[in-house]
Amino acid sequence: MFLSLKSIELSGFKSFGKKSELVFTSPIASIVGPNGSGKSNVAEAFRFVLGEQSMKSMRSKKGEDLIWGGSPAMARANRASVKVTFDNSPGPSGTRLLDIDFNEVVVERVVYRDGQNEYLLNGSQVRLKDVIRLLAGANIGGSGYQIISQGEADRILNASPRERREMVEDALGLKLYQHKKAESEKKLEETGINIDKTRSLRREIAPHLNFLRSQVEKIEKAREMKEELAAKMHEYLSRENAYITQEDARLLDEARDYDQQIKILALQADEMRARRGIKTEASEVEVTILENKLSQSRQEAARLERELGRAEGALEVNTVTIEQIVPVPHVRQFIRDIEAEIAHVEQSDDIGAVRTVLASVRGKIKSFIEGLTGSAPETNEEARLQVESLARQLKEAQEGERIAAHDVQTVRAKIAAARDATFAAEREVVEIEGKLREARSRLAAVQNERSQLAGLRERFEEEIREGITLIGAAIHGWNKTEIPQGALSEDRNVQEKRRREIERLKIKIEESGISNGDTIVKEFKNTKERDEFLAKELIDLERSAASLEDIIVDLERTIDVRFTDGLAHINTALHEFFAKLFGGGEAKLFVEKPKHASKSNFDEDGDEIEEVPDEDELYAGLSISVTLPRKKMHGLEVLSGGERALTSIALIFSMSQVNPPPFLILDETDAALDEANSKRYADMIRELGAKSQLIVITHNRATMAAAGELYGVTMGSDGVSKLLSVKFEEAAKVAK
Ligand code: ATP
Repeated sequence: MFLSLKSIELSGFKSFGKKSELVFTSPIASIVGPNGSGKSNVAEAFRFVLGEQSMKSMRSKKGEDLIWGGSPAMARANRASVKVTFDNSPGPSGTRLLDIDFNEVVVERVVYRDGQNEYLLNGSQVRLKDVIRLLAGANIGGSGYQIISQGEADRILNASPRERREMVEDALGLKLYQHKKAESEKKLEETGINIDKTRSLRREIAPHLNFLRSQVEKIEKAREMKEELAAKMHEYLSRENAYITQEDARLLDEARDYDQQIKILALQADEMRARRGIKTEASEVEVTILENKLSQSRQEAARLERELGRAEGALEVNTVTIEQIVPVPHVRQFIRDIEAEIAHVEQSDDIGAVRTVLASVRGKIKSFIEGLTGSAPETNEEARLQVESLARQLKEAQEGERIAAHDVQTVRAKIAAARDATFAAEREVVEIEGKLREARSRLAAVQNERSQLAGLRERFEEEIREGITLIGAAIHGWNKTEIPQGALSEDRNVQEKRRREIERLKIKIEESGISNGDTIVKEFKNTKERDEFLAKELIDLERSAASLEDIIVDLERTIDVRFTDGLAHINTALHEFFAKLFGGGEAKLFVEKPKHASKSNFDEDGDEIEEVPDEDELYAGLSISVTLPRKKMHGLEVLSGGERALTSIALIFSMSQVNPPPFLILDETDAALDEANSKRYADMIRELGAKSQLIVITHNRATMAAAGELYGVTMGSDGVSKLLSVKFEEAAKVAK
């Protein structure tokens, strides 16, 4: 048969001061020896190496007690070590005893005087947990039901229902699932803690994150506004620049034009002013003189006419001679002289010469007239001559009058012409001065416009500076902004509207009050990433919590099913073993109802109080009922020592039948049996040995007889236990 346990080696463990090895070659090995030789120490060595943590179950108080304490003959050891070797080669079904890819597995545990423990798996240091896990997978270890220590045979009977249940679960190989369940529960708890932590971290971050988000939204909005501002300013500035440039050129041209005009008009005005310098007053005097002369000529002519009338009358009435009237040669000469003088200046423009001639003519006429007075003709001839002379004189005087009138007329015309010319020049001057004033006022208007334009240029530059503080160098983009053709003909109000819009946008941006957006955006990004990480973490945690819950539920179900099945099998085996050992009767394991389910309390008002049950109460323990053959009494309390031992043996064996452990160690489990029961016990050992490897420590001959190999333990005077293979005959010497 397949032996899972190959050997055990003890060095420095308890009484085994020297290295000792037990090699198993038979399914049933028996360890025999005198009291106190160290047999139980071997059983405890198994407990030790399989990871036992209870010092009490190894009859010690502390780790140090497990180390060879020394004797007068041999110094104490510093470490105790036990090595157990498993055969782990694959079985017929290809499966290995232990879930590890080695054909031979050596588990070693070392304890040092300071209490430190070491676990080694095939020479490599591992954790206790790893050892327990590995062994649990092979139904080894745990509550230790497979190592029944001396005097502990009825431990399963003495145990509490809860402990008993644990032992049964252990025997059913549920420990592994329970480990897994416990681990999952622990993980679930840790996960729960992490979920809480993560949630609270997110809660902590949330307000800051929200604050940052709103800031970033504002920044984003400001950024958009700045972009809008840039676009608006580019168009505005580009148009403004084009407008200013064009207007500047236009106004400069206009100013030049007006300047030119003003210069020309000023010259023209000067010229006209010069032309208007002719004096007209002197001419008026001359006209007066000429008019006086004309009036004298008229008076003379009128006098001569009267004279002639008188002479003609006298001639008719008084027979007056011409000679009396006119000294003829003298008159003729006189007229010729005057005529010559007038002829001299008649065609002349020289007013002075005319004036002189007039004066001379006036003097001659005066003296002629003075010469005439008082000299009246004395004869008809004379009178007739006088009439003729007077008629001639009259004619001449009339001619003089006509000439004088003509002269006046001429001078008057000249004066009028001169006055007209002055007037014309004056009008021209007035007109030019008007034009000049207008040109000057136009020029002033243009200059005014130019200074306004300079104001616009200044504002334009100021707007660029402001733009730089708001949107930085991006403002210069206006330079590259094309404006549509014909844009300049646009109404200035449209541009003004643009400017107002820009001003409103600037105010909005300033009001948003975000100065250094970069750090906030960065912080927001980091915080958001952290929150997202936490959110993801939370999802992962919740997911793993859910899957852990699933695992736990699955494990509980598995444990439950296996436990119920296993218990039924144990009871079947128990029924048989019990009947075999007692020759009848009945023993049975049953699940106790959890205490809290059967009890209820009421408060003073009669209302039911829901008690919070402790774990012990929730956990349904296992009780045992025993009915002995031919006896009416029930229950464990009434059993004798031997009956108790038999019952527990039946129970232990039943348990190992359902899920046979690879090996069982029974330390004097048969101690209390009488001869007849010892034989039955030996039979059962044989039966059991077919399923599990057995190591039985015994003083019982019948049990020794059932073993395939015997080891003797002796202790010499040095206090050191020794192991040796012995023959049945030798062994029988120490047997009862
Ligand atoms: P019995 O047949 O009476 O049950 P046994 O063979 O089972 O006896 P054990 O109980 O295994 O004997 O051995 C007890 C012996 O081991 C005692 O003599 C005890 O002094 C010795 N011993 C126990 N621990 C140590 C130790 N740390 N160092 C040295 N000896 C020890």
